Amino acid sequence: MKKADLEKEVDKRRTFAIISHPDAGKTTITEQLLLFGGIVREAGTVKAKKSGNFAKSDWMEIEQKRGISVTSSVMQFDYQGKRINILDTPGHEDFSEDTYRTLMAVDSAVMVIDAAKGIEPQTKKLFKICKMRGIPIFTFMNKLDRDSKDPMELIDQLENVLGIEAYPMNWPIGSGRILKGLYDRYNRRIELYKTEAKGESFIKLDDDGNIVGDSPLKDDSIYQDARSEMDLISEAGNQFSKTKIANGDQTPVFFGSALVNFGVKTFLDAYLKLSPAPGHHKTLQGNEVEPTSPEFSGFVFKIQANMNPRHRDRIAFVRICSGEFQKGMDVTLDRTQKSIRLSNVTEFMANTRENVQTAVAGDIIGLYDTGNFQIGDTIYTGKKPIAFEKLPQFTPELFMRVSAKNVMKQKSFHKGIKQLVQEGAIQLYTNYSTGQYILGAVGQLQFEVFQFRMKNEYNSDVVMEPMGHKIARWIDPDQLDEKMSSSRNILVRDQKGDPLFLFENEFAERWFKDKYPDVKLTAKL
Ligand code: GDP
Repeated sequence: MKKADLEKEVDKRRTFAIISHPDAGKTTITEQLLLFGGIVREAGTVKAKKSGNFAKSDWMEIEQKRGISVTSSVMQFDYQGKRINILDTPGHEDFSEDTYRTLMAVDSAVMVIDAAKGIEPQTKKLFKICKMRGIPIFTFMNKLDRDSKDPMELIDQLENVLGIEAYPMNWPIGSGRILKGLYDRYNRRIELYKTEAKGESFIKLDDDGNIVGDSPLKDDSIYQDARSEMDLISEAGNQFSKTKIANGDQTPVFFGSALVNFGVKTFLDAYLKLSPAPGHHKTLQGNEVEPTSPEFSGFVFKIQANMNPRHRDRIAFVRICSGEFQKGMDVTLDRTQKSIRLSNVTEFMANTRENVQTAVAGDIIGLYDTGNFQIGDTIYTGKKPIAFEKLPQFTPELFMRVSAKNVMKQKSFHKGIKQLVQEGAIQLYTNYSTGQYILGAVGQLQFEVFQFRMKNEYNSDVVMEPMGHKIARWIDPDQLDEKMSSSRNILVRDQKGDPLFLFENEFAERWFKDKYPDVKLTAKL
């Protein structure tokens, strides 16, 4: 591809994840977005948890049982000249380190909030990761067709619970049964909420924000309330700032209802105007790799194992950071400096036939892998070595004691654990005094996948004993005294040999801090 063409292609890319608490409407809005892109799926196929007929391919049994599909973890479509990649961040019990790492591979995030509930725990967790990366975050307040919280309160939560400046792009005129529409200050119009199909859906606003022409809305007290709130926000609220949005310091807020497709297009159109195309990526060598660099580069952010025993391979998900991917190309794997031919690849391509199938910076490719890749690996072409900055480690919250069921099979047990830990599937700790293995994860699914893969790939039955939620805190080895450990703060070593405590709860952690005020405890993320 010529440089100018590559620049054009990269500029078209918008790669994002939708973050939300379960049931806020992520699936519903994803389906709406796919529909705008002309990708028609049966309603419910993005999740397909309930119907189960989506996962026709022979992907892993666990995934089939749960109805998650690999193809739904990256969705691509074209809309208004842009090529959009949506990366799925599973919620519920599927929550895992993968969920967090996926956020390392996107250029922006869309935060969907149930307007009746406000900010919920999982939104907070995922938001924190996006904030840490400094990527733009766009907010969609969903389910406006139902009675919602006071929009002022929702804005206040964004600012005070999450700590991000909010800029309402539009404002609800009522909600639930009295929902009239959106006062859209960004587009200078009112978007009417209509249940009947005919009629104009927009009313123009003049430069002062007044309705142009006649409209019964003018005398409507719900409209007048919304209008005065919007005026108040315009006077006393935050100034719209493209720079702040770009740095993730301000979030544009949109209201709407994914279920009845109200306000979703308005959101998407504005999102495409304000969201960034792929930017540069920093390397360990201290350079910045530009997306339009002619050399191909990318990093592995997720490895998905194939649970089918006939297909022991896995898929390594690669975010392309620069250049163009070509089937059969040879790349260097930075960690080993080995050359690997990328011939067996799945591309998550738009389903429309007229598209030229290219994958460039911003896109995701899935490499069939027989054990070459680890999470965080960089691959590149060209003579100049590239290693992207390490992916952060996320502090596990759930722990399990693990041992081999059959003591005679210690060898395969150790080999399996070693490889799965190296791959980044799970975290391993050892009890400081007994040497017992303890696994750590951010979500329950990681344990299940671990157990399954130990059996299927390493022929090792494992016994797992839940230890429940713990708070992991690292301690400076110089300050460590083994006597500090107790059943309520178990002392363990991580993979690197660094000591940390697993606290039973916040109370135990506070108690410890009171007892040893000089000891510094640190969390990872
Ligand atoms: P997810 O868990 O975030 O993917 O949430 P879903 O998209 O599966 O939605 C959870 C439930 O909320 C489903 O029953 C949806 O039909 C419903 N839902 C989603 N969006 C809306 C909306 O805008 N209005 C209403 N009333 N219900 C919605």
